[in-house]
Order: sequence, then structure tokens, then C-alpha cells
Amino acid sequence: MEDQSKNTSRPVSRHFGDLYGIDNWGNDMLCVDGDGAVALRLPLDPDSASTSLPKVMKAIKARGILAPVLLRVQQFLDQSLTQLHDAFQTAIETTEYQGAYRGVFPIKVNQQAEVINHLMTAGQKFDYGLEAGSKPELLIALAQPLSQGALLICNGSKDEAFVRLAILSRKLGHNTVLVIETLEEFEIIRRVTQELNIRPLLGVRVKLTERVTGKWQASSGDRSTFGLGARDLVTLMERLDESDLLDCLVLQHSHLGSQVPDIIDIRRGAAEACRFFVELTRMGAPLTHMDLGGGLGVDYTGALRSEENSVNYTVNEYCTNVVETIQYALDGAKVPHPTIVTESGRFVVAHSSIFIFEVLSATLYDAPQKPELKAGDYHLMGDLMAVEGYIQGPRFQEALNDATYYRDELRALFRRGQIDLDQLSRAEQGFLYLAGLFKAAIRADETLGEIAGGLGAFTDHYYGNFSLFQSLPDVWAIDQLHPIMPIQRLNEAPTRHTIFSDITCDSDGKIDQFILAEGTADALPVHDLRADDPYLIGVFFVGAYQETLGDLHNLFGDANVVTISLDGQGGFDIEHETEADTIAEVLSYVEYDPRGCLDAFRKRVERAVTAGQVDTSERRQMISAYKDSLAGSTYFE
Ligand SMILES: *Cc1c(COP(=O)(O)O)cnc(C)c1O
Repeated sequence: MEDQSKNTSRPVSRHFGDLYGIDNWGNDMLCVDGDGAVALRLPLDPDSASTSLPKVMKAIKARGILAPVLLRVQQFLDQSLTQLHDAFQTAIETTEYQGAYRGVFPIKVNQQAEVINHLMTAGQKFDYGLEAGSKPELLIALAQPLSQGALLICNGSKDEAFVRLAILSRKLGHNTVLVIETLEEFEIIRRVTQELNIRPLLGVRVKLTERVTGKWQASSGDRSTFGLGARDLVTLMERLDESDLLDCLVLQHSHLGSQVPDIIDIRRGAAEACRFFVELTRMGAPLTHMDLGGGLGVDYTGALRSEENSVNYTVNEYCTNVVETIQYALDGAKVPHPTIVTESGRFVVAHSSIFIFEVLSATLYDAPQKPELKAGDYHLMGDLMAVEGYIQGPRFQEALNDATYYRDELRALFRRGQIDLDQLSRAEQGFLYLAGLFKAAIRADETLGEIAGGLGAFTDHYYGNFSLFQSLPDVWAIDQLHPIMPIQRLNEAPTRHTIFSDITCDSDGKIDQFILAEGTADALPVHDLRADDPYLIGVFFVGAYQETLGDLHNLFGDANVVTISLDGQGGFDIEHETEADTIAEVLSYVEYDPRGCLDAFRKRVERAVTAGQVDTSERRQMISAYKDSLAGSTYFE
């Protein structure tokens, strides 16, 4: 790789996207084009031309939309939706399963109107429905054009208003299923049903005892907050019978977890759910739907392994396993096959969004030039610079030890007042100069890298114009890994290894874990920054959970959101754009009145004018600077 980089001007047939594993996780959606740019492909039409991501960014910049940008690609949403339904259809046909599949989208995974609207339109042909876990989500669902066959599943804690609205919606022809989560909730349902005199569709959430591995292991099985255990289930069945509602119980729900990495856990969970299904059926419940909730994972790393940010199965395997497990269990018990329902959220939306930010500046962990030595320098300065003579070869480790020691001693001398700032500055420069040589030696010889503990000890620091807390909250909160890579210059060999810091003044605002083809790493290969040449970083598969979990840390607001549709000929159309929060908007979120702030500032300026501290042209400058900022972006412009 190194050799090829020496001549970047000649056309290259290979690219450095391999380094980041884009072929492993890019699926049929992402690739590197002939210009060394990350490009978007039409997944359902592999022969069509790809659209260059840097070109998209350039085009939307020309319209005044600057990074950071959350870019949604409509076809990626269609792709996941189609993949999921096709996979279930195929599994049902090949196993000769007697029931159907009905998907619902759990609104909490991405509540954005635009996403829900698109899913509902594109999902019409699949009778795709919605899952609401709260009253606001129910209100969203009831405003959607649900098809006749679509389900509206109501999970979560429900008060009387929630229950009433859900039951009333039956009169509109909606297949609204109230999933009973607790015995107390059933009492509300019983009361409201009698009052309204409408027969509801009921479901029951069953707490499974099988636990799943992965990030949410601790809250699975017995430790799950939701659902009825065996004892409560029996009580519920009695109460349903007493209140003449048993014939309304049509759905059994169990949620296996989220991002379940191991397919065996899916099978075990589905098998246990079947046992409950069979028993409840035998006790007289006319169950027709088996809902397995979420859990279908996304292979963020592309490793296809049972690990936290990966899964050891494909969507096809997931569907086949689910269908087969249910079929075997129910055939064995001579119970008819139910309609299978899943509430796969992450799988449906994760791929559809890409977060793109620009690198503003860098702190480099090396220096191109040796410091000059001066007469009267402390002798350790000379010792430090002499290390250059034995970096190569068997004394590498010694050289590393010595350089660190001399640098630390020189720092100690400064603290004790024995050397001045000029000498300390040249000592730091000398060390960074050597660091550059150490890095070059490690790149040339991997075994040296093992001695030095990898390049991790020498990483650069790139500063990105974004807020981790606002745009990538799971990276901060639960160490979620997303594929991350530069989106341009991939026909040039990366020359640096870096971590990223955001522009919040919080030291947690950093990304320092990355997915590479060879595994996870604590630094990302990147290129040297060039003046006047924007260097953009793409964070992929951020469509699930991130948008509303994000917060206003340091009052950085929502980034620009742009939805595009690929035309298959290298171009694209902008379908929708939502401008980033202005500073005035963000201030009002925390209860300031932007006009009031401006007035207060104006008064202070006036007082300064009266006092003769500020002249009239300065006054004009100050007021317009304040006003422009209020109307402007919270990010660097
Ligand atoms: C969060 C949630 C889902 C979505 O899970 P994914 O793993 O994202 O598919 C589905 N059902 C329920 C009840 C949930 O709470």
C-alpha cells in the first residue's frame, strides 16, 4: 500500500476503502468509486451507477446546507423494508408455514415524521403497521394512513386516556391491539371496554425466562421490566374469562431484546414464546398472532460474529429460524400456525442515515523539523536529539524509552525553574520530531508496533465540527460502534492515525474506537489535512435511536437533515430538508427569550455608548454580530 501512495496522480485501480472494511459492512449500499470517494448505490438495482457522497455534500453546500449533516437515503429505507418482508415470505414459502407475516415499525426507534411517512407509504404493499409505546406515539400512529390489513400494536404503560383512544380507534377499522403489560392495566382496559361497549383486540406481554446475550443482557429474562410472568398470566386468564373478554385475546407478545448478537438466543426465545402460546391456547385464548418484538440486529462491524456490535446471522437466517422454530413447536402441539409479527426497528432504519462532519483542525503527534540546539542548552537536550541515531533496528525499544525519559526530565527541569519556556518548547518539538520517526519505523515494520503498543500511543487528534452528545448519543452512552471513515481521497494511502474530538467542551466528546477490516482499533487511518480542501468524515448506520436520544450539551442543536433519493445515474434529488437549529431556537428550548436576550444586550451597549466606551460604528457592529449569531447555526460556520 505504501508504495502505491507515492504516486497518487496516476489512475489507481485499487482503493484504500478496504482498510475500513467497507466491503464487509457496506452491503449493497456503499462502495468506493473510481475517484476514491465513498459512493451510494441503489441496493435493489446493482447495475445502476453509484452517486458520489462528496459530490452530494458539495451540491447541498451550494444550496447553503453545511456539515454537520444527517443524510437520509430513501432507497436504503426501502431496501431494509423489502429485505425483511421478502425474507419472511421466502421462509414461509420454503417451510410451507401456514400463517402469514405482518411487520410493525416501533415508532420509538425513529419518530421523525418524514421517516414514518415514508415507511407507511412504502409499506402499504406489505400491510406494514406501527408499534406505539406511549400516548404521543399512539397519536402519531392514528394520524397515519394505515392499510386495512396493518396492525397497530400498543405496548408500554397505558393510562385511561391511552386505552380509551386505542379502543375507540377500532371503530375506524384499525387493527389496534392493546397489549396487556400488567394486571393493573387490565383493570383499566376492562373498565373502559364496558364503558364504551366496544370489543377490543387484546394482546398479552409474556415475560420470557430465557436471557439473551449482548448489550442488554442484564435486563433480559427474569430481570425484564415488562410483561407477565407465569403466575400473573394465570390470574389474567381467569380475569379475562370472568369479564367475558377471553375471546378478545388474539395476540401474544414477547420482546426478546435489542441487537441480539447470537441467533441461538432468537431460537430459544421463540421456542419459549411458543410454549406459552400453546398453553394459553389450551386455556381457551383464541390466539391468532405471535409477536416476537425486536432484536433483529445490525452487523455494524461486518464481522458476522456473535459480538456486541455484530450479529452471527443474516436477515434471511433470522426469518428462517423464527418461522421454523414456531412451526416445529406448534406442529408438535397440534396448534394452528399463527400470523408471525415482529417489531424490528433497528434493522429497518439503521442503514438509512449517514452522519457527516467536517474536520476543522488537527493536533499532530509529530513535527517535521528538528529543533535547533543552542549554546547553553541543558545537556539533556543533546541527549534527546541523539536518540535519532538508534531508532532503526534492534535498539528501537531503548530509543523509545530514552526519548520519553529525556522529554520527561526536561519537563521536570522546567517545573523547577531550571530551563526556560524557549528550551521547553524546543524539547517538546524534539520529542514530536522523534515521534514522527518512531511512527515511520512502526509503519515499515509491524513487529516494532508490538513493542511500542501499536500506533495508539502516537495518535493524532482531529477536531470535528459536531457534537457527539447531539448526533451520536449511543457512541457516548453505550459505546456503540458505527462504521466511520473519510469519504474522500481513498485512492491515496492514509498517512495518519487519529481520534476525533467534537466541539463541545467536554472531554467525553470524542470518538476513539473504530471498525477496521482487521478488527476494532483505537485510532482511524486518515489523510493529512490540506488547506482549502474540506475533509469530511462519514459515520454510517445512524438511523436507529440517535435522533431523539441526542441532547443539547453545550447547547449544540440539531444538525441539518437532508433526505435524498438516488437516481441510479450518479445523481440524486433532494426530497426533504430540515434546517439545523438556530441559536435562537436552542436558547428558547432552555426557556430564554431570544428577543429578551437581544434587548438586554442592546441596553448594555447603549450604556457603553453613553459612557463613551463604544462609538456608534462599534455599536452597529456589536448589535449585528449578536443578531447574526442568534439567527445562525450553533456549529462552526
Ligand atoms: C425497542 C423495542 C423494539 C425495537 O427493537 P429493535 O431491536 O430496535 O428492533 C420492538 N419492540 C419493543 C416492545 C421495543 O421496546
